[in-house]
Amino acid sequence: MEILLAKDMGFCWGVRRAIDIMEKAADEKGEIISLGPIVHNPQVVRELEERGVRTAGDLSDGDSLPVAITAHGVGPEVLEGARSRGNEVIDTTCPIVTRSQRWAKKMAEAGFTVVIFGDPNHREVRGVLAWAGASAIAIQDGDPLPAKLPSRLAVISQTTQSPERFAEFLSRLMRDHVAKISELRVINTLCDVTSSQQAAARELAQEVDLVLVVGGRSSANTRHLLDVCKEEGSVAYHVEGPDDLRAEWLKGCERVGVTAGASTPDSAVEAVVRRVQRLGAGLEGAASRG
Ligand code: SF4
Repeated sequence: MEILLAKDMGFCWGVRRAIDIMEKAADEKGEIISLGPIVHNPQVVRELEERGVRTAGDLSDGDSLPVAITAHGVGPEVLEGARSRGNEVIDTTCPIVTRSQRWAKKMAEAGFTVVIFGDPNHREVRGVLAWAGASAIAIQDGDPLPAKLPSRLAVISQTTQSPERFAEFLSRLMRDHVAKISELRVINTLCDVTSSQQAAARELAQEVDLVLVVGGRSSANTRHLLDVCKEEGSVAYHVEGPDDLRAEWLKGCERVGVTAGASTPDSAVEAVVRRVQRLGAGLEGAASRG
């Protein structure tokens, strides 16, 4: 059994940067509070905990400790809340997300209703919504568009959406609402890293019998990688680590592809690859004995 790795996968520079800032802060200041898991990956969160980074749901759990904002970013009220309580703020928001927040604020101040193409429950989207004024809305892929929309719209995207889906969403918006739109601004807030990893996943999916997508269960960009592999007609499974892998998935496979989300450490990918090798060797052994 041959194992092929995607040409681009795993930790992105935004996540590496956030982890570096947190590790440095924890080393210098002792315990710090991360508002939510720094990335959607349990292994990374565990390693940071060992260095003194405690994850909390909200500011009230943070006492007077320094508070770290994760790469997903937060709304202005969270930053102001932390500062007014006297907590030192360590901001690891990815610069690509900060750019999206700035556009949302700018467009809202210019009188546009901001429409975010993305999951309204995702932390990045919740944060951007909070910068985008009271009329802003987030619409998830596949969800119906509201029957009525204001006439001046500014559309941005969750950074980890695929360019194809964003384009489809824009077409749908134009098809259903163009008669009522007086002004439309589209700001491309997609992340290049995500687009490049999705392109690599598509390429991989065409070359193998099965793709394993490694990443945290709640990682949006990992789930999007799984979607693009399935769109290519490939059999694909999302695994958080080697224990999720089932031997029966590999039966009859000659080429297995592995890719990973932007919040997945190399160690998780390596552990999955080792298990595929072990299971593959077991299946080959059983076949030759049979
Ligand atoms: S995937 Fe892109 S937007 Fe998200 S943290 Fe990484 S670099 Fe930033």
